[in-house]
Amino acid sequence: MRIIDVRVAEAPIGSGFANAVIDFSAMTVSVVAVETDHVVDGERVVGYGFNSNGRYAQTGILTGRLLPRLRACPPERLVDPDTGLLDPVAANAVMRTNEKPGGHGDRAVAVGIMDMALWDAAAKAAGQPLHRLLRSRFDRPAPESAPESAPREDSVWVYAAGGYYYPDGTVGTLREEIRSYLDLGYRDVKIKVGGASLAEDVERVEAVLDLLPAGCRLAVDANGRFDLPTALSYAEALSAYDLRWYEEPLDPLDYLGHAVLAEARPGPLATGENLFAVPEVRNLLRHAGLRADRDVLQMDPSLSYGVPEYAAMLTCLADAGWSPERCVPHGGHLYNLAVAAAFGLGGCESYPRVFEPFGGFADDAPVTGGRVRLGDRPGVGIEGKADLHRLVRNLFD
Ligand SMILES: [Mg+2]
Repeated sequence: MRIIDVRVAEAPIGSGFANAVIDFSAMTVSVVAVETDHVVDGERVVGYGFNSNGRYAQTGILTGRLLPRLRACPPERLVDPDTGLLDPVAANAVMRTNEKPGGHGDRAVAVGIMDMALWDAAAKAAGQPLHRLLRSRFDRPAPESAPESAPREDSVWVYAAGGYYYPDGTVGTLREEIRSYLDLGYRDVKIKVGGASLAEDVERVEAVLDLLPAGCRLAVDANGRFDLPTALSYAEALSAYDLRWYEEPLDPLDYLGHAVLAEARPGPLATGENLFAVPEVRNLLRHAGLRADRDVLQMDPSLSYGVPEYAAMLTCLADAGWSPERCVPHGGHLYNLAVAAAFGLGGCESYPRVFEPFGGFADDAPVTGGRVRLGDRPGVGIEGKADLHRLVRNLFD
């Protein structure tokens, strides 16, 4: 199995809302198509990849550095010698050659985009859904042998991340939005904080809590906006409520600030969606005072060099006494859902009705009781999401 061509495109993913730090009006994503010579059912296997919302398209790094390295590599080095199929782990290492340590940023996103496409192609060639291929490739225990309480392979807990700040938004429109998520089958939801005054945010929190049925939980997300005194005053105000978690109160690299906050606030904290490599996660575990019994880690495989780096992060977590069940990746798409199922993570973020068509899961897998079922469709499953499949065909066919 060989790569014949890799095509790179950009697509808009703009929306008219904001979190506490950025507006999404000019947001873009990269979309790639990895065309191979491998034929299944009379058609050449093509793998598709894209990045999660919140980081822009990465055309320059893809076309200027990563793809030339893949093209220059002897094709046999990109193949698993046992199966003869594409080996995304080998390709990942090739793309990352001649890059200095540190400064991960956009480069990690660019590799993540290619990683999704390479796994999509490899899983389609193997005739397996991605979550199953990853399980065997990374030697994760089969679901039968996992303890009863462990996350099941066939479905993943998801929560509805919304509650953005809209120019004409009111508490009333926020309540309508949250009600619509409950109607879709979600049980747990998340809203933004930090884009309004503390008093207004508390009003938003109370309005949503008032709507949630028993057993459903609310999380809040400040997107790294606050300095330590503000983060502490929000923590104090929010401690009156039983929140699922308080997300990104501080800059993602302010580890000591997190440690002060964790000391002051017993409630669960969440962070990690803007940490893109193992050393950054290791520093978080060493210095941020996070608690393995309650806090939530949100590193996003598609933004952080893809599955090989994510698997290494999980090893780093295990060494520090953290279960994969504490991980709930940012991103809200099929690839992260497959990773969550494969590695037994606690869940996966979801963005109902926004960041479409990249966000969301298979058309035939609605959210039921706050969980999404994994299917048997080979690859990442883009072909099972009609609007996304149409978009990639329009971009590349
Ligand atoms: Mg977030």
